[in-house]
Amino acid sequence: MRFAFVTIFPEFFTGPLDHGIVRRAREAGLIHVHVQDLREFTKDRHRTVDDRPFGGGEGMVLKPEPLFEAVESLLGRSVGEATTQDTGDPGTAIVLMSAAGRLFNQEMARKYSQLQRIILISGRYEGVDERVAEHLATEEISIGDFVLSGGELPAMLVMDAVTRLLPGALGNEASSQNESFSASQDMPANTSIGSKVTSHRAPVTSDMLLDFPHYTRPAEYRGWKVPEILIGGNHAEVAKWRLQKALEKTRRNRPDLLLRTQEP
Ligand code: SAH
Repeated sequence: MRFAFVTIFPEFFTGPLDHGIVRRAREAGLIHVHVQDLREFTKDRHRTVDDRPFGGGEGMVLKPEPLFEAVESLLGRSVGEATTQDTGDPGTAIVLMSAAGRLFNQEMARKYSQLQRIILISGRYEGVDERVAEHLATEEISIGDFVLSGGELPAMLVMDAVTRLLPGALGNEASSQNESFSASQDMPANTSIGSKVTSHRAPVTSDMLLDFPHYTRPAEYRGWKVPEILIGGNHAEVAKWRLQKALEKTRRNRPDLLLRTQEP
């Protein structure tokens, strides 16, 4: 899978690309990462990437020309102009990082992990000329309801979330199956615990749960003990406990995820 970042701050990416799972995935050839300096696609002496907004107002806006040309050079083809129809490439996503985009989530990360190539465009200043969102990007993605100063951190975050879903990226294949936001079909759907833990009388059919709590040694730390049930070795009891705790935590921290739960 190929990732390309389009940015005015190429050095920004060195740290995150060189650690942990992302580093291993690069070394194993699972992913290939290219960082494209946007300023290479400027033509003036000052390497200008931004300009003042039409209609007035604060700040500067990233110009369309360098962005279109940078992405076209990565694609190896032209995306055309107003009078032409670009059919796109089904294996490639061109993602504009934007506070005004659709909220990124694990389901999108899964979809992206099926692609051959993702090009991630990082905005800066007041943002990016809207023609980039409309006619160049295949999607406009936000990583949360807050405003950052640039798209670089969001773009890295998307790359990280996608990379760890690629087969072979995690040491243990099971790790990405039983974690927050993953489908919980291997948990008993009609468990009676649901009625105790949630206010719903219905069996819990939601496939969106947060992760259950994890513990490791020591079994007692400063007087705080690891739950007895995890030490007992009864796998069925452990599974039941984990589901119950996952439900409790989801209710406490993310009740919105449980709204999918169906009444009978
Ligand atoms: N004026 C814009 C914010 C611009 S912030 C607005 O009000 O929506 C500058 C750049 O940071 C954006 O172009 C985008 O690339 C990035 N950015 C900021 N917040 C983001 C978020 N929550 N998700 C993704 N990208 C974000």
